[in-house]
Amino acid sequence: MNKEEIVKFMEGLDILNIYLSENQYRQFHKFFDMLLEWNEVMNLTAITDGIEIVQKHFIDSLTIVKALDPMDIDRVIDVGTGAGFPGIPIKIAYPHLEMTLVDSLEKRVKFLNEVIKELGLKNITCIHGRAEDLGHGELREQFDLCVSRAVANLATLSEYCVPFVKPNGNFVAYKSGNMNEELAAARNAVHMLGGEVKQEIAFFLPGTDIPRSLIWIVKEMRTPQIYPRKAGIPSKQPIE
Ligand code: SAM
Repeated sequence: MNKEEIVKFMEGLDILNIYLSENQYRQFHKFFDMLLEWNEVMNLTAITDGIEIVQKHFIDSLTIVKALDPMDIDRVIDVGTGAGFPGIPIKIAYPHLEMTLVDSLEKRVKFLNEVIKELGLKNITCIHGRAEDLGHGELREQFDLCVSRAVANLATLSEYCVPFVKPNGNFVAYKSGNMNEELAAARNAVHMLGGEVKQEIAFFLPGTDIPRSLIWIVKEMRTPQIYPRKAGIPSKQPIE
């Protein structure tokens, strides 16, 4: 990271009231370098400008603090993590968390395993698989928090994510733009899966004028065994 990128990163952290140790800064620097390096040989992220990586990937991932305090929870799963967003920045900033990253693309999992090793992160696992399959296995209803960004529309995403959440746990979907229509279309799906929309938190991505929102869903009841449906169905036929 150059000086300007570091300044933007620190500005964003300041707005979010997040304080990092020297080791945590070092981990963000290393992750930044690895993203750029690996992106030359595999398609990891469309964002390659340093300032954009800092703001749209690192700071954006950490906006989870607008919904809840990560210090109050233990187990987190990031569904469709891609190059590690939002899961890796959350894990670096809150090392006490037990983090599980899930993605259906094996090459991204390979990259993430390398990141985990190079950064020396502990208590973090990256799993190659589809949410629809993993949601019926040993990860079902195990997490205090499920996060997901840029994976599917809210109705489909809820079917991927809510099954992983413990009763009384939380699912936070990272979204952008006006969510009225998507929220209205997903309300019944969320309810059928055992959740309720607690709040839509709208804000500008720190240091920018880019609108973002977090859809915060609380799991009130256990998810019926029929969900998630078979791989591919939640995206083709979202619950209405
Ligand atoms: N969350 C990351 C981010 O915000 O930068 C990546 C977003 S990328 C557009 C969507 C990712 O979700 C891809 O890496 C894809 O492989 C993964 N994905 C899509 N459907 C999935 C599913 N059903 N189960 C697991 N991963 C899935």
